[in-house]
Amino acid sequence: LGNKLQDILDRVGKERQLTEPQVKAAMREIRMALLEADVNFGVAKEFVAKVSEKAVGQDVSGSLNSGQTVVKLVHDELIQTLGGKSMQPELKAEGNVWFMVGLQGAGKTTSTGKLAAYYKAKGRRVLLVAADTQRPAARDQLEVLSKQVGVPVLKVADGETPAETRRRVDEHLKTDFRDLVIVDTAGRLQIDEALMDQLADLQTAMQPTETLLVVDAMTGQEALNVAQTFDERVQVSGLIITKMDGDARGGAALSARSVTGKPIYFAGTSEKLSGLDAFHPDRVAGRILGMGDVLGLIERVEMADLKAMEVKKPGDFDLEDLLTQLRQIRKMGPLGDLLKLIPGMSKALPEGFNVDEKQIQRIDAMISSMTLKERRNPKVIDGRRRKRIAAGSGHSVQDINKLLKMHEQMKDMMKMLGRMGGPGGKGPGGK
Ligand code: GDP
Ligand code: MG
Repeated sequence: LGNKLQDILDRVGKERQLTEPQVKAAMREIRMALLEADVNFGVAKEFVAKVSEKAVGQDVSGSLNSGQTVVKLVHDELIQTLGGKSMQPELKAEGNVWFMVGLQGAGKTTSTGKLAAYYKAKGRRVLLVAADTQRPAARDQLEVLSKQVGVPVLKVADGETPAETRRRVDEHLKTDFRDLVIVDTAGRLQIDEALMDQLADLQTAMQPTETLLVVDAMTGQEALNVAQTFDERVQVSGLIITKMDGDARGGAALSARSVTGKPIYFAGTSEKLSGLDAFHPDRVAGRILGMGDVLGLIERVEMADLKAMEVKKPGDFDLEDLLTQLRQIRKMGPLGDLLKLIPGMSKALPEGFNVDEKQIQRIDAMISSMTLKERRNPKVIDGRRRKRIAAGSGHSVQDINKLLKMHEQMKDMMKMLGRMGGPGGKGPGGK
């Protein structure tokens, strides 16, 4: 009988489903997050419509609340839209010709050098072709990079026809075997018909096995138009997103990927030749949502005692709750990793604030030196109280200030998550 009762309880738990108003409320937030990440307006709208349809009626999974369930659904869908798993361009044993295209300043020349370094390290014999005849300095730029990498470069001469370029490359390959030829092309500040025609002619002559569109992550809303136009004119086969080391949240990646349906192979992560990484849809999905690895956190929370982590109402998250959570988190394994998973935490932690056991103990000490009233209502902690707490816990007033600021930021973040549906599936509307 005991088992049966448990079965029923389990079933009741599993029958909780996402309602339409819940999903609607959550999707307003998601749409905002997407637009803030510079995802194209139309792409965001389409994405939200697609996830909403999937979400309504969806079971609230396991010990997650409705808000977390929606976030998980959105996250999963974002990963799929970004291509699912990390992909690499196909490479035959020989005869690979890659054609780099994109707007001026997107990072074509830099990425060409990076690809040369990347594939040389994998044992490929690379030849670079400097075909940017728009600016004289552009070919020199690639030559400098080729010397750094240690691969030959063939510079296209002014006024050379695409057919001549092709013939010179073939000539070169006869005496110096190369299995991967990467062609760097002229940039365009904007989509320019005449230049597009030239680009298409060179492409026809070179017969590339891959045409890689280089997109600057900072392009924002324009990324969609750029990707669409290049794809129409030169049939893009894959994408490289550059400048992912900057502030851009990665919305351009989603836009470019959505409109072309082509895989994103690489992400540029610095100006240096080594700054090229395989593109990981899961990481970028988290970044677009602006939530770090929330799902990683959610998974670990699921494994721990959820009760202690739950806050009555996200807006009520006070220092007492923070203390309870920190003590709970301490039981959950590698501390630094875990703390970084908490939304807002990595940003909230002051520069040089090492997340280790000691730091947690310090926070614990500071909160422990507060009265219950202060913990429940941190607003009352004025200058005099700060001095007392600092002295009582063996810290500086500055430390107390930092802690209070961190708590404020965590509270804001929780409010945001809370608006996507309160704990325990109580639905949206938490203020
Ligand atoms: P192109 O006109 O498309 O050939 O662009 P370039 O390769 O000349 O790059 C334009 C600028 O962007 C240069 O200053 C590069 O150093 C910089 N750049 C390119 N890729 C990246 C990247 O992934 N991260 C950062 N931070 N800068 C980059
Ligand atoms: Mg260039």
